Amino acid sequence: MMILLTGGAGYIGLHTAAVLVEAGHEVVLFDNFSNSKPAGLKRLEAIIGRAVPCVEGDVRSRQDLDGLFDQYPIGAVVHFAGLKAVGESQAQPLRYYDNNVGGSLALLAAMQRAEVRRIVFSSSATIYGNADSNPIPETAALRPANVYGRSKLMVEEILRDLHAAAPGWSIALLRYFNPVGAHPGGLIGEDPNDIPNNLMPFVTQVAVGRRPELQVFGGDYPTPDGTGVRDYIHVMDLAEGHRAALDWALRDPRELLTANLGTGRGCSVLELVRAFEQVSGKAIPHRIVARRAGDVAACWSDPSLARERLGWTATRSLDDMCRDAWNWQRNNPQGFA
Ligand code: NAD
Ligand code: UDP
Repeated sequence: MMILLTGGAGYIGLHTAAVLVEAGHEVVLFDNFSNSKPAGLKRLEAIIGRAVPCVEGDVRSRQDLDGLFDQYPIGAVVHFAGLKAVGESQAQPLRYYDNNVGGSLALLAAMQRAEVRRIVFSSSATIYGNADSNPIPETAALRPANVYGRSKLMVEEILRDLHAAAPGWSIALLRYFNPVGAHPGGLIGEDPNDIPNNLMPFVTQVAVGRRPELQVFGGDYPTPDGTGVRDYIHVMDLAEGHRAALDWALRDPRELLTANLGTGRGCSVLELVRAFEQVSGKAIPHRIVARRAGDVAACWSDPSLARERLGWTATRSLDDMCRDAWNWQRNNPQGFA
């Protein structure tokens, strides 16, 4: 039996593939390379010591998906494929709904045809929007403030409706907080196209000399040092969270489980910058500028449900995240290029 990873050539997909293969799973990746490069697959091969099948195709194409399910003995799916840039989603809502919602619908229909009823879905803490308080439990109100977040919430709702109508399904909705860092070997990591939207890849690109300085978006938030607070989670911890969710789904609980994947600790922009400077020995020139539209002041998880239900908890520190992000960027100044 194989595990299908849609979007498997992307940042979280590659790390999860490495962890799943190491745990003894057979995986097949499926990706249209809209936000990833085939070079990443060669690196994965170097980490695990053998090639992993990867099919080029689009999750919106039933033809591509039906061919995939006919070709491989797939028993469960981890659904990463999607677009994730918040600003772009506001400018191109139809493209985001088509890809994220339309792609998920086509995938679920193909799974139904192939009688595969186990899925782990990449959701996001973005769906909480501006939460009333922190830490945020799974029961918090869902008020996404942008198109990207609404596309994730729509897919969650589709999966809840599917589960209510067809209780044979085992469905894990994983709400990621802020994934950062890289595989400790430095062969795979985050490789954003163009100017990074996210904090950690921007910091590592400043450190490696690709960008002159970091702009810190807002120094007047109601937080201890005035900068935004987030729950950064090491991508290897996140990958292990997927392994735990998959093991849960493979036991056929026929339940729908919603779990935060975070550390439960908030960290400010300036704290992250200081930790990175210490670990890397590189100064990160930075300047406080205006707030970024749509940002919340603070957001961190209550991760207790994942511990209780999946037996998973994040173990890596902020220093680990900075060290591994830097190791990746230092060894690959231009990413996979
Ligand atoms: P990524 O862009 O690196 O990976 C996504 C992969 O999906 C890419 O390889 C891309 O080429 C592929 N893809 C996109 N549309 C596709 C389509 N129609 N058909 C086939 N492949 C397609 O992003 P990531 O950081 O690895 O994120 C993976 C998932 O986790 C996404 O769904 C994202 O929304 C979600 N997520 C990410 C974060 C984060 O900060 N990285 C946070 C919360 C949730
Ligand atoms: N941030 C920043 N400068 C940047 C990118 C991000 O100051 O170049 C801040 C941002 O305002 C937020 C935090 O870093 O407080 C995390 O932002 P990111 O985009 O990585 O994640 P998200 O906003 O999606 O939680």
